[in-house]
Amino acid sequence: MSGIRPTGFLHLGNYFGALRNFVRMQEEYPCFFMVADLHALTTHPDTKELKTNIHRVLAEHIACGLDPDKAALYCQSHVFETSELYLYLNMLAYKGELEKTTTFKDKARLQPDNINAGLLTYPVLQAADILLHRAALVPVGKDQEQHLEMSRTYVNRFNHRYGEVFPEPFAFNYGEQLVKVPSLDGAGKMSKSENQNATLYLSDTDKLILDKVKKAKTDSGPTVPNSVKPDYIENIFLLMKLVSKEEVIKKFEDDYNNCTIRYGDMKKQLGEDMVNFIAPIREKAEAIRNDEKYLKAVMEKGADKARTSAKATMALVREAMGLIYY
Ligand code: ADP
Repeated sequence: MSGIRPTGFLHLGNYFGALRNFVRMQEEYPCFFMVADLHALTTHPDTKELKTNIHRVLAEHIACGLDPDKAALYCQSHVFETSELYLYLNMLAYKGELEKTTTFKDKARLQPDNINAGLLTYPVLQAADILLHRAALVPVGKDQEQHLEMSRTYVNRFNHRYGEVFPEPFAFNYGEQLVKVPSLDGAGKMSKSENQNATLYLSDTDKLILDKVKKAKTDSGPTVPNSVKPDYIENIFLLMKLVSKEEVIKKFEDDYNNCTIRYGDMKKQLGEDMVNFIAPIREKAEAIRNDEKYLKAVMEKGADKARTSAKATMALVREAMGLIYY
């Protein structure tokens, strides 16, 4: 089970941290993937763009290879049981620990005039999304590790107080480590709303991709063989490893180690490889996005599958909590 907020354009971080794993997992597990529109409300209270954004994010999921006939692909707000479980879990979440969450502190800093209770309890809503399907594996990027730890805390509190209902959920990635896709300026990660010039979006035109990669931060190159790479150079290699062929990466690694690297050539190659990777996804997503009838059918089918699973869980939850009175 996993989700992505419809708060902007999907980017390479969303792809390699989350979507790539979704597409593989759908072949091996029963899966639930949702567009987290309720979570979006904690930071984006204006709903004017929401419908367009939801359609685009759904289309981008499908363009990346997610198959609505295999996995349940749905909108969070269409599954009303989410709100009920969120309420129960809120009684097991403590203010002090929520206030210490890194993402809460970051977001509170960004929106000092709207530090709402939903923002504070964001990890509780996320736990509700996961536990609603009693999911054990949650494909997410590295930034979500702390939230998963909080979900496990709520599971343990619930199971301890009311009896074993939920398995402990863990962050999941097919590689060894969780992924963090760095931004092109070497400062932070690619993101939907911040760092837009240093983030590569799945909807970027070829020209925009080439321009952004060209502007990535570099320097005059190493002067001592086999020296340690500065962070921003390491990041360019990391991005190359996501989309370029092995022999291409090896060539630039060798050039770096013997101090003959030309960053202009490296960025040109990276730009072309990024275009080859992103352009087919962008084109496919555009076509799907314009087919509103198809997207409606996808949402209905997804909500149906998700609600069937959610209802079964909620029956167990109410019974375990002793909330059945007749
Ligand atoms: P954003 O941070 O862009 O708003 P979300 O919070 O909706 O994205 O995250 C959706 C998924 O994408 C999560 O699993 C998150 O871990 C992953 N993700 C977001 N940015 C990155 C990144 N730069 N690198 C790896 N994974 C990322």
